[in-house]
Amino acid sequence: MSEKKGIAILGATGSIGKKALEIIAAYPSYFDLQVITANKNADLLIQLALLHKPNTVVIVDENQYKKVSEALWNEDIHVYAGKDALCQVVESGEIHTVLTAIVGFSGLEPTIAAIRAKKQIALANKESLVAAGELVTRLAKENGVNIYPVASEHSAIFQCLVGETYNPIEKIYLTIAGGPFRGFSGPQLKNVTRQAALASSKSVLDPKLAIDSATFMNKGFEAIEAKWLFNLKPKQIEVVVHQQSIVHGIVQFEDGSMKAQMGLSDMRLPIQFSLTYPDRFQTDFPRFNFMDHPEFSFEKADLEVFKNLNLAFSVIEKGGTAACVLNAANDVFVHAFLNEKISFVDIAHFNEAVVNAHSVILKPGYEDYVNTDLWARDYASNLIQ
Ligand code: NDP
Repeated sequence: MSEKKGIAILGATGSIGKKALEIIAAYPSYFDLQVITANKNADLLIQLALLHKPNTVVIVDENQYKKVSEALWNEDIHVYAGKDALCQVVESGEIHTVLTAIVGFSGLEPTIAAIRAKKQIALANKESLVAAGELVTRLAKENGVNIYPVASEHSAIFQCLVGETYNPIEKIYLTIAGGPFRGFSGPQLKNVTRQAALASSKSVLDPKLAIDSATFMNKGFEAIEAKWLFNLKPKQIEVVVHQQSIVHGIVQFEDGSMKAQMGLSDMRLPIQFSLTYPDRFQTDFPRFNFMDHPEFSFEKADLEVFKNLNLAFSVIEKGGTAACVLNAANDVFVHAFLNEKISFVDIAHFNEAVVNAHSVILKPGYEDYVNTDLWARDYASNLIQ
């Protein structure tokens, strides 16, 4: 292996993937870009490959193989296609860290392959931990693999824990900006339309993520991820509304002391730290100025109104495949809401119905998760009909 840190980016054409490529390009003497992948977006994959010159590219959609390989034929770049190739390329001896930035349940299989190949993981693909946290963290432990969180909230907790190896966590606080319907009562939520839910999301480009933020499901998923990343019980995780989005996460230790990580919201920072840990590299990212933010506020998150958050804590208690069901069901119902087939509050009601209908498998293997995901999607689709 070369002196440099070999990096594979799964999902390089996405929002996280592209930012990671910028970071890698900014430190050429430290990183060695080995692999980039995309699902269908061949044009962008080709463009990124020509710009960043990885050793290997993978396009999952096999119909696009010809296009990608012809565009790169003159380059010293290996081109592969298909789902299986994703799992095979991460095994290369030149790769030190795999950044899993694929969106959705499809990220689970290559994440597991990278862990089995004993690669360090910079984890953005939230579904790997939400749906299959027990399996992923167990395999990471067995293979001596560290999982470095990419999401800003988990990175915040992780950064607070640096240097605290022997100090148990009493509690963590995950912050949430509150979304467009903060302060709404249950009846008020019933009237939320698709347009209102989407229009209010200023910075979220992905409609699914915008709805998950508005229903607090996204924060619920983050609580599930935090459970697995930091080995916590549900009562050790609290969600607080912090509208300013400057404090990203807080750890409270057993002596009562609290450490918070804060700064301007900028995904480049947690992505970079997941790749450079334990080092911090100098950046020119915008700096925080207290005078621009003279007030911070914190308030209780309303678990009665935002039932998805409560549901997330209940699936942590249930364990096994319960969270996998919630992840899959929520996916179906959010898309049904976006297609105006169900109401905003139905998302949480229906999620709960699917979770309650499921017989939890307590020590699931990979196939159990795959089957549970399929079962939950099928059950959820039938409920809508
Ligand atoms: P994007 O939708 O922007 O990008 C997703 C990437 O995954 C693309 O490269 C896409 O390829 C690829 N992809 C999609 N489907 C498949 C599939 N079936 N098989 C293989 N590759 C696939 O997502 P984001 O970058 O926003 O998010 C990635 C992950 O990180 C998600 O799990 C998200 O929840 C999490 N995350 C994102 C944050 C953010 O700020 N964006 C913050 C914290 C976590 P193609 O372009 O060809 O479709």
